[in-house]
Amino acid sequence: MKRVAILGSTGSIGRNCLEVIEQQRSRFQVQYLTANGNVELLLQQAKKFRPRAAAVLREKASASFSTQFKELGVELLSGFDGLLEISQREDADIVVNALVGAAGLRPTLSALKRRRRVALANKESLVMGGQFVMAAAEKVGAEIIPIDSEHSALLQCLAGEDPQTIDAVILTASGGPFRKRAVGDFPQVTVEQALTHPNWNMGKKITIDSATLMNKGLEVIEAHWLFKLEAAKIKVVIHPQSIIHSMVEFRDGSIKAQLGLPDMRLPIQYALTYPERLAADFPRLDFRKLKDLTFEEPDFEKFRCLKLCYEALESGGAAPAVLNAANEEAVQLFLNRKIGFHQIPRIVESALSKCRLNSLHSVEELLEYDRWSREFVRNHFNQL
Ligand code: NDP
Repeated sequence: MKRVAILGSTGSIGRNCLEVIEQQRSRFQVQYLTANGNVELLLQQAKKFRPRAAAVLREKASASFSTQFKELGVELLSGFDGLLEISQREDADIVVNALVGAAGLRPTLSALKRRRRVALANKESLVMGGQFVMAAAEKVGAEIIPIDSEHSALLQCLAGEDPQTIDAVILTASGGPFRKRAVGDFPQVTVEQALTHPNWNMGKKITIDSATLMNKGLEVIEAHWLFKLEAAKIKVVIHPQSIIHSMVEFRDGSIKAQLGLPDMRLPIQYALTYPERLAADFPRLDFRKLKDLTFEEPDFEKFRCLKLCYEALESGGAAPAVLNAANEEAVQLFLNRKIGFHQIPRIVESALSKCRLNSLHSVEELLEYDRWSREFVRNHFNQL
């Protein structure tokens, strides 16, 4: 029986993870759950899965629920310290990091330092702090197993293969809701339109990132760290049907792809059970019902965020952290209807060009860059 801590259990990935565990009750036990402020859902989850403890980031939100958790016999922790403590507890074998944004970095690092398997959905951990995250894992021999469907696809394609034989990896992207929309229309894009993803039902931040193609760029950086590949070996292709989740091209020209319906439960289950593959009864792909599998070149001028990610990866050091923080702030401003959709790449580009990037020596320095970038965006977004 593996004991699982789910950071961000009330989110899209967190809820899918609990569905997987519900199907695999004889294999997994939910040990810890966490939320940002959705304590009502956290309480329902606690009633169903009876974890040892739960943590709520927003201390005020947790206060009025403390008696109910107590009656259940579930310890209730609060604040960022509570979240960090859960990522470090000894009695969890797997830490699922399903937090959104930069908040995920320190829990990832602390779980790895305790040699936990980290089932990683929080790509921002690797984007901003890849060098520190990989070093923390390598130091103690801890595993990072990706949940992102593209990286899970690569992991599955690479099973039994020698990494030296990889010529390239090809990340597929749906292209988002504006694949066919003219770039001149981007200032008119509404929040509701940007939140309507053609294939996936996800949290708000990643849905906006998918519409700008920032998400694919973040995945390029994630792939660089996870599979130790230089940027030139990480390609992106638009595949609107989201059936092929990614591919590996080997040095003899052979290409392996992983296919399936767009359903995050499959990569989540694989991350929990890797390298084992358990039976599952999720809906399956039926080739007889499949009409088209199509592919297009991404448009790097229309979707500048994707290009910015490649540039930040080439610059290295703190550039991806500055990009990530500026993007998080810009996405929030867009969701709050303070800026237009077209301003997101402009803001990110501006933060990158104004930041004085020096080499990076510590996580503290990295967090300084993160802070600088957020402040820069908050102070200047009106002028960009
Ligand atoms: P959601 O917004 O749906 O969920 C985020 C979770 O984290 C919630 O439990 C939320 O709590 C909690 N949370 C939010 N902010 C904070 C914070 N500052 N500190 C602590 N906890 C916080 O996100 P998703 O599930 O969509 O995405 C999670 C991660 O997985 C992201 O990095 C995303 O890129 C990645 N991912 C997601 C996919 C998907 O299908 N959704 C696919 C591939 C990757 P509360 O509910 O209380 O607000």
